[in-house]
Amino acid sequence: MSKALSDIDIEKERKEILNAFRGLMRTVKDRNKEDTRTIRRAFDVAVEAHKEMRRKSGEPYIYHPIAVARICAEEMSLGPTAIVCALLHDTVEDTHITLEDVEELFGPKVRLIIDGLTKIPEVFDENASVQAENFRKMVLTISDDIRVVIIKLADRLHNMRTLQSMRPDKQMKIASETKFLYAPLAHRLGLNSVKSELEDLAMRYTDPSVYAEIQNKLKSTKDVRNRFIRKFVAPIKEALTYEGYIFTVKARTKSISSIWRKMQTKEVPFEEVYDLFAIRIIVDTPTELEKPDCWRIYSIVTDFYQPSPDRLRDWISTPRANGYESLHTTVMSPSGKWIEVQIRSERMDEIAEKGLAAHYRYKESKTSETKFDRWISEIRELMASPDANAMDFIEEFKLNLFNDEIYIFTPKGELRVLPIDSTILDFAYDIHTAVGDKCIGAKVNNRLVPLSYQLQSGDQVEIITSTKQKPNEEWLRYVVTARARQKIKSSLNEVRKAIAMDGREILERKFKQHNIQFDSANISLLEKYYKLPTATELYFRIAKGKIDLKKLRELENKNGFLQLEKPKPVPRKIKKENISRVDNKNDTIIIGEDFKDIQYKMSQCCNPIPGDKIFGFVTISEGIKIHRNSCPNAEHLMSKMAYRCIKARWKGADLKESMAAITVTGIDRVGIVNRITEIISNQHNVDMRSISFETNDGIFEGNMKVMVYDTEHLNNLMQKFEQVDGVQRVVRKGAEAD
Ligand code: MN
Repeated sequence: MSKALSDIDIEKERKEILNAFRGLMRTVKDRNKEDTRTIRRAFDVAVEAHKEMRRKSGEPYIYHPIAVARICAEEMSLGPTAIVCALLHDTVEDTHITLEDVEELFGPKVRLIIDGLTKIPEVFDENASVQAENFRKMVLTISDDIRVVIIKLADRLHNMRTLQSMRPDKQMKIASETKFLYAPLAHRLGLNSVKSELEDLAMRYTDPSVYAEIQNKLKSTKDVRNRFIRKFVAPIKEALTYEGYIFTVKARTKSISSIWRKMQTKEVPFEEVYDLFAIRIIVDTPTELEKPDCWRIYSIVTDFYQPSPDRLRDWISTPRANGYESLHTTVMSPSGKWIEVQIRSERMDEIAEKGLAAHYRYKESKTSETKFDRWISEIRELMASPDANAMDFIEEFKLNLFNDEIYIFTPKGELRVLPIDSTILDFAYDIHTAVGDKCIGAKVNNRLVPLSYQLQSGDQVEIITSTKQKPNEEWLRYVVTARARQKIKSSLNEVRKAIAMDGREILERKFKQHNIQFDSANISLLEKYYKLPTATELYFRIAKGKIDLKKLRELENKNGFLQLEKPKPVPRKIKKENISRVDNKNDTIIIGEDFKDIQYKMSQCCNPIPGDKIFGFVTISEGIKIHRNSCPNAEHLMSKMAYRCIKARWKGADLKESMAAITVTGIDRVGIVNRITEIISNQHNVDMRSISFETNDGIFEGNMKVMVYDTEHLNNLMQKFEQVDGVQRVVRKGAEAD
């Protein structure tokens, strides 16, 4: 509601402005005369610069910088320099004042901070990545001075508190931006009360009806809650007083936005949010006694109330990343309600409310190796990394926001919420089944990682797929989401069915060879013989070569039907393994490393290698030739000249594929992962069991396990890898049995 300028009593307004300034000065602690003079000068400069400007509400603009400065002093415990900067924060952008003027009047430090503040746009672009980039710029200014960010938060907080005078469409935009960018930033900086207030203010505009509903319910249940709290804390207070502690007990109601979050994630109504409030015991004690005193108080509390052992959080021994220290326990009240009790010292409470910055009171002089400095330098390091992109920063600030969920970003900055412990495979299936099924790895924050990589909140994930990839059983161990599990299972079933179809064909051919009728009676008899539950399982095993169909002969064939009566033959042991010979009883040639008894050659048409299913064909002049069962000539030979075919098998009847581990190293190049997986997929009979890639400083390392028949097979594969552009070394890490 703006009044016409002429109606305004300028003198009265000047007095009111001065009053507001005096109110601000009362909140600035630890100031000397020089500080007072500088702040006053900043105030005068700001008043003069903004004198023609009014806010949307109609009030003089100067009220805004005064309010921002007061938030800095009162709610964030910042010192005189920050107050000066807060008073001047909009001058360079909106008035005739220049950065040079600021430097001349207040020195280079203030100029630096104002410069940082001026670079941050008031409202970001619609586009998520532009938003992120601007946000990054803002956070980058921390490397100059962290006060830039804290003052910016104070600025945003005041704008949110006075948002009602804005146009509704602007309200929505500013509110959602506050929720998306500023609240997580406040959280990351440990400004917890600012974070809660920003979230609540934002929700008032983004979800007005829910906000009002929860607010009303909180109000109407207030009396009952207060009675309950009084009763609950009475014995604790008495015991603490008896032991001589100086303490305060507060009951802190959860913020409306966090109640709403809880209602959504736990899918419960307001009435079932059990931790609407927490009891906070703040003890006044010297630093060296903080820890023992907090634990002693814990012990007193749990003397009265039974604690839940899995809800004890000791952030005193291990403070959280944003500096938060406290001891949390959840205890059972006599009425059967769980109550969270937070135990902390005065110092810890100040950090919890106002952030680490408050505690160390960012002094003008450089303090030594404090926790705060270390933390700031960590942030600087993070930002100095040249290959990290803008989105990474936002994600970093979203860390640890909620404990049971993680926030993952797509390469385009789209947010996905996953349960904690999710892997890249969960993420891939969350995007699309087709992405999950073809996933071979991912880039997480520009680093190549394997399928089993566990995601952290804030990770930015780019899934790498290969058309040749397919899910395998092992994947089930990697995933935690129900969706991924179910999709993998159904894929596996399909693959299994397809393999079973092959097995069915193989069996059909075998039956034909032996003149056995391919019908349900014979098939179910085979199922019984091999003790398998279904025909699909039987076919599957046949296709995988796990069932030796040579045993078909042992099941007597009567007019095309199988019979089970015959006792199972005891498998023969082969004694002289290293020689090839005709096993007279079974009419089988055993192919060994050296052979004396029988002359044979590998046929040129199909080049059998150990592990192949083979048979021998007696030639007229060249002895026995060994063919693969799948040789193009096999069908012809076996059907037309069956009398000249003899069974053959490799030395050691159980020779199977074996697992080989290969490590490929080289230079990380675009597409190298896809090239390698392509090679594996295109190789006949190579079954990839696992694959993972890592890069470090541009050096690429791929580790994979493949199933191969023999060394030749493996060498072939390794040679192919060596030919890939960028690959420098391919080594076998030693094979292991399947
Ligand atoms: Mn402002």
